[in-house]
Amino acid sequence: KIVVRDLEKAFGDNHVLNGITTNIHEGEVVCVIGPSGSGKSTFLRCLNRLEDVTAGTVTVSGFDLTDPKVDINAVRQHIGMVFQHFNLFPHMTVAENIMLAPTEVKKLSTADAREAALTLLDRVGLKEKADARPASLSGGQRQRVAIARALAMNPEIMLFDEATSALDPEMVGEVLQVIRDLAKSGMTLVLVTHEMGFAREVGDRVMFMSDGAIIEDGDPQQIFDNPQQPRLRDFLSKVL
Ligand code: ATP
Ligand code: MG
Repeated sequence: KIVVRDLEKAFGDNHVLNGITTNIHEGEVVCVIGPSGSGKSTFLRCLNRLEDVTAGTVTVSGFDLTDPKVDINAVRQHIGMVFQHFNLFPHMTVAENIMLAPTEVKKLSTADAREAALTLLDRVGLKEKADARPASLSGGQRQRVAIARALAMNPEIMLFDEATSALDPEMVGEVLQVIRDLAKSGMTLVLVTHEMGFAREVGDRVMFMSDGAIIEDGDPQQIFDNPQQPRLRDFLSKVL
């Protein structure tokens, strides 16, 4: 569960998040949409303390991220993140990339970590690529490895920041399918996405951000078929 109260984030004079309050419940799939620069990525990054918050509180699985004494490595075992660019280690094989955190952080044996990595690769449809180098994979395959790597820590929550935006169109579907399967598995997901069709399909909830605030939040049908705020209507008229 994620609890956000009066979250503010500023970079110098630039107030990027202006008081966000929301709860994200276990098993919920929340899609975050909104114009470029509205603060979607910054919001997501505040949920796993890739950014320090300026004011307010963020609690994730019972950890208060605003507490300076919080064990951030413990937090990151509960919350995984996948970015637009996959950042796999090029000098390691696919399996080694996935095994890294479990062996280093969770102190799993190499054999156990490899077995877990192969199970995850099977889940994302890439078991046969275990010993390949990232450079030999397509963008869609690399992004699926990045998802498997994040899943290797057994997080309860996964954050996705435009996980498909850097992909060639023909590879978007395979990555969305993996995310769709995660959503069905009951995992808590927060997805920043430009894929409105996907948000409507998999989201239990859609949040619309504008100027650093969530200005409309509801089920997909309400957001897409009956938007209330003029800024949301304007946004949808441009992207749909
Ligand atoms: P996009 O759809 O283009 O990804 P976004 O909604 O994710 O946009 P953010 O990346 O959260 O928007 O950026 C919101 C604002 O915060 C922008 O004005 C951006 O310039 C600023 N910003 C983000 N990260 C930093 C940073 N590390 N330092 C300074 N300013 C930043
Ligand atoms: Mg962004």
